[in-house]
Amino acid sequence: MNQDRIRIAIQKKGRLNNDSLTLLRCCGIKFRVQANDLYCFSENLPIDLLFVRDDDIPTLIADDICEFGIVGDNVLQEFELNNPTAKLTRLKALDFGQCRLSIAVPNNWSNNKLNSLNNKRIATSYPALLQQFLNKNNIEANIIRLSGSVEIAPQLDIADAICDLVSTGKTLEENNLRELVVVMQSQAQLIKNNKNLNQTQQDICDLLLRRINGVQKANESKYIMFHAPTNSLTEICNLLPGAETPTILPLEGYQDKMAVHAVASEGVFWVTLEKLKQAGASSILVMPIEKMLD
Ligand code: ATP
Ligand code: ZN
Repeated sequence: MNQDRIRIAIQKKGRLNNDSLTLLRCCGIKFRVQANDLYCFSENLPIDLLFVRDDDIPTLIADDICEFGIVGDNVLQEFELNNPTAKLTRLKALDFGQCRLSIAVPNNWSNNKLNSLNNKRIATSYPALLQQFLNKNNIEANIIRLSGSVEIAPQLDIADAICDLVSTGKTLEENNLRELVVVMQSQAQLIKNNKNLNQTQQDICDLLLRRINGVQKANESKYIMFHAPTNSLTEICNLLPGAETPTILPLEGYQDKMAVHAVASEGVFWVTLEKLKQAGASSILVMPIEKMLD
């Protein structure tokens, strides 16, 4: 094993796979992945990727098979509750894989109070997180552990309610279930174990974090350009979301209009563009930003 490389565990197949690979590629890490590969080596940086089931990622890091991993908060917290001595650090929330762990009940459940769950059977793949939530709320229920297809448990009369991940709520709807309460919010996290990295590994880690910050900032920001009447420049520039110092340039052939270029750090919505137009701006262009470095 080459001690000067770092290993990152990512989900092999499933909801986090594509966004994890895209993020690493946006960070300038070059690699070629083939369908059944268990690992691959980056061609331009000392980084190896390991492709595994998401549930195995915290264990692989705690056991120091990999230094880093990308995994949902839900899997991570369930692991931490089951392994209280394992020390894993969240380095960065990654802004993808957003979902929530919720308790859902059949549509015909008549009581909306939490205590309606008392003495009921609740099916879940997250027994530790559910138990913690029930304890905090003084509810005694029977937890049924299932590793998949939790949403069909009430129809099969394996359980009365479920505790599962929800993003749009479509799966719940299709199974005649409705959300009763949110247990936790989750998103993908870059995680690491507590073992010290050597200097070379630390440098790669710093580079990776710097680039992830750059990618996140660029994703949140837009480059905006428009023409504005000279006499309403201040008013118009005040409408720009999160833009600190717009560049103002003369427009060839016009005395009363200027070109304004700015980085808007908070996303630019149609409402903002309409307000700019009302204030006299014209030829408005909004463009994505690929990379940003302070
Ligand atoms: P694996 O084969 O790796 O064990 P899986 O079936 O457990 O895959 P996926 O359904 O691909 O996992 O979900 C992976 C992660 O994606 C979840 O743990 C969660 O963090 C996140 N996620 C985001 N939205 C949802 C959603 N609607 N349902 C389930 N997971 C979601
Ligand atoms: Zn899984």
